[in-house]
Amino acid sequence: MAADLHTHTWHSDGTTSPAQNVALADEAGLGAVAITDHDTTAGWAEAADACRQHGIGFVPGIELSTQRRGASVHLLGYWVAEEDAALTKECARLRGEREGRLDRILARLADHDVPLRRDRVTQIAGSAPIGRPHVARAMVEAGHVHDVDTAFDRWLADGRPAHVHTPARDVRDGVELIHAAGGVAVVAHPALSRSEHMVELVEELAAVGLDGLEVDHPSQDAEVRRAWGSLVARLSLVRTGGSDYHGGHKAAILGQSTTGMRELRALEERRPLAIASGAAPDHPHGGCGPSPRKDSSW
Ligand code: AMP
Ligand code: ZN
Ligand code: FE
Ligand code: FE
Repeated sequence: MAADLHTHTWHSDGTTSPAQNVALADEAGLGAVAITDHDTTAGWAEAADACRQHGIGFVPGIELSTQRRGASVHLLGYWVAEEDAALTKECARLRGEREGRLDRILARLADHDVPLRRDRVTQIAGSAPIGRPHVARAMVEAGHVHDVDTAFDRWLADGRPAHVHTPARDVRDGVELIHAAGGVAVVAHPALSRSEHMVELVEELAAVGLDGLEVDHPSQDAEVRRAWGSLVARLSLVRTGGSDYHGGHKAAILGQSTTGMRELRALEERRPLAIASGAAPDHPHGGCGPSPRKDSSW
């Protein structure tokens, strides 16, 4: 029994509904699933309902955009209070920055004779925070590239001609923001970050209470996982895993990388206000936590 602690829905740059992610998690035999959309909690209510129906645990999460010296670092925050004022404000700010960034991306593309209609990109994104996968999909539709991956490789990835940074907070502030909202903080896909001193960064964050590291991620091979796994052991962090499922926007299959139920329990025990003490305010979605399946024994 395991949990997929990193999945996206159409509330950010995935292509499936929260209920579909839950159904896929159930089909994969998982004990729990998290929804971790970029800079929004919009998918939680539907996913919590679906988890109740399927009898699997729900872990409410968010993938917060942060940075260190201009290099993007993604933080996964679990069990954060949806109504936390500071986190809500930061997410709203980030969504606004994404709108401005879109204009700059489109201007760069236009400079390279790759015209793209803004209204089509925003139509694809719907009410979700605008992400590069939405731009990539519009580029495929317009016939500029064959697929989303090519759009990134040629234009949108860090260092490519149409890459534009989103002004995000320093990752250390992000960890504090998640903790202050009652959540636990995990550094996502460490090997994907372009931050040059990632090991030192994780050490620094561990010293200020970072809870876990996403060792198991489709982009990280066995050797890479061994290296991050030993760092996790050395720093007494929780080793987590997730597929980073994005529906049709990425090749990953939900449940492809997972977190052990024991690790999930360890992560939950690190919530700033321990539920067991009765001190935590009950949360409409977070309160149900990773409840075990009927047939589980963790
Ligand atoms: P954004 O939030 O706009 O910076 O976009 C980040 C998302 O783009 C990630 O969650 C991935 O889904 C996707 N992404 C980032 N880099 C690549 C890449 N090289 N190829 C395909 N998708 C990517
Ligand atoms: Zn994404
Ligand atoms: Fe990410
Ligand atoms: Fe992600």
